[in-house]
Amino acid sequence: MLMLRQRQEIVEYGLRMVRSGLTTGSGGNLSVLDPAQNLIAVSPSGIDYHEMTAADVVVVDRSGLTIDGHLKPSSELNFHLALYEARPEITAIVHTHSVYATTMACLQWEIPAVHYLVAFCGNKVPLAPYATFGSKELASGIVSSIGSYNAVLLANHGLVSVGVDMPSSFNVAEEIELVARIYYQAKSIGRPVLVDELEMERVVKKFSSYGQQG
Ligand code: 13P
Ligand code: ZN
Repeated sequence: MLMLRQRQEIVEYGLRMVRSGLTTGSGGNLSVLDPAQNLIAVSPSGIDYHEMTAADVVVVDRSGLTIDGHLKPSSELNFHLALYEARPEITAIVHTHSVYATTMACLQWEIPAVHYLVAFCGNKVPLAPYATFGSKELASGIVSSIGSYNAVLLANHGLVSVGVDMPSSFNVAEEIELVARIYYQAKSIGRPVLVDELEMERVVKKFSSYGQQG
C-alpha cells in the first residue's frame, strides 16, 4: 500500500488524539508529508478515529489530487496543503478541538507566555481570524498567523500544530493544551504573571536542543 507507514501513523495518532482528550468523535484531522515522494497522507473526512484503518487514509499530491484511497480527504485539506507550501521544514500537521485551547480561541485571545512550556510553540500561541472550516480563507489566515510558530489558535474553532515529524507535532498540540488549561485556571483565580520576553527568548533557544536533539 502506498505510504503504508505514514497511513498507519495517521491511524495511531488519531487514536492518541481521542485517548488524550485532544478531540472527540471525528473532530480534528492529521497529515504527514513524504518529501521523497512529494505525497501527503491525510485523514479521511468525518470518520471516527476508532473505526479508521490505514486503507481509509487518503494519499494526495501537493495540489490535493487523490492519488490513492477510496474516501474523501479531510475537509481541511486546503490548510494542510498551504502549510506544507509555506513551511518547507515541516512534515506533519495536527488539528484538534482540544477544550482549553479552543476556549481561548472562542475568546479570540492569543495564549501569552504564562508558563515557559509555551516555548513548544514559540514565545506565545498566535491566533488566526475566524473563517468557515475548510475554506481557502481559513487556510490563508492560518498561514499568515502561524508565521514561524509551531502552532496557531483558530478563532471559534480549535488549534493547529506543525512539526518536523508526527511525534513532535502531536507533542506541541498536547503541551499547548496544558498551557491553555493553566492559563484558564490562573485567570480564574487571579492575575497570571507572564514570563518576560528576554527569558522566553532564552527558553525558545534552549528548546532547540532539548531532550536528545543536537
Ligand atoms: P474532517 O473530518 O473533514 O477532517 O473535519 C474535521 C474538522 O475538524 C474540521 O475543521
Ligand atoms: Zn476543526
